[in-house]
Amino acid sequence: MKIEVLGAFGSKLKNLGMTSILINDKVSIDAGNIVRKGEKIFQLEHIVLTHQHLDHIADIPYLIAESFPVRKNPLKIYTHTKALESISRHILNTEIWPDFSSIKMIDREDSSLRYEKISLGQEINIDGLKITPFESNHTVLTFGYKVYDQKSNCAFLITGDTWKQDNVWEIANSDPDVKAIFVDVSYPKRMRELGKISKHLSSDVFEEELYKLKRKDLKIYVYHIKPAFRKEVIDEISEIKKRTKFKIEILKDGMTFEI
Ligand SMILES: [Zn+2]
Ligand SMILES: [Zn+2]
Repeated sequence: MKIEVLGAFGSKLKNLGMTSILINDKVSIDAGNIVRKGEKIFQLEHIVLTHQHLDHIADIPYLIAESFPVRKNPLKIYTHTKALESISRHILNTEIWPDFSSIKMIDREDSSLRYEKISLGQEINIDGLKITPFESNHTVLTFGYKVYDQKSNCAFLITGDTWKQDNVWEIANSDPDVKAIFVDVSYPKRMRELGKISKHLSSDVFEEELYKLKRKDLKIYVYHIKPAFRKEVIDEISEIKKRTKFKIEILKDGMTFEI
């Protein structure tokens, strides 16, 4: 399964992009930094959102506005009802940006954008990928996902924004298809309290969480670092890597790799 990191960070600063992971050139998990691909991304049809926070949805308005005149199929946004309501009510509401769910593609009958509600545990099938949400632990309802590629028989887990939780580690421990986990580690250890309040892992709590994982063969990709703390978090993660012997890597914008 091909992974292209369009954005790896939990906010925006200088040239660092916000969270978006493109899978097999077909499906993006979150949409914080999609338009960096330029016109090449205009026919993207599937965005699967973890939740509605701005760093995860910021490029949806720009992608649809630029692409709708040339689209062949609608852009579909998949996530839980609350996140879909937030986007349609507060962003694509004709006041902040046009409501593309009621704007047709040029010379076509279908609307440019479609909202696709999904529920916890409900598997969706998109282009050879089976994507199943599980609940993460954030300030708003947030879906983590298991993404299984039928062609390679491999899966990865992505936590979405999260703090302490058992779900992701339990799935990883029990499912041999899972080869990698993407984990939100936003803050350095000195910001542990801020992490607790804003429900993001700080590096020290991430290390505590790691002991729930019983497998050493998994690749762990740390992402969603807040740019202002980037250097500190990277230094602390490299110490954790030495101490725990887990295969940890920091995700960066522009990386492509196979799982
Ligand atoms: Zn976020
Ligand atoms: Zn968030």
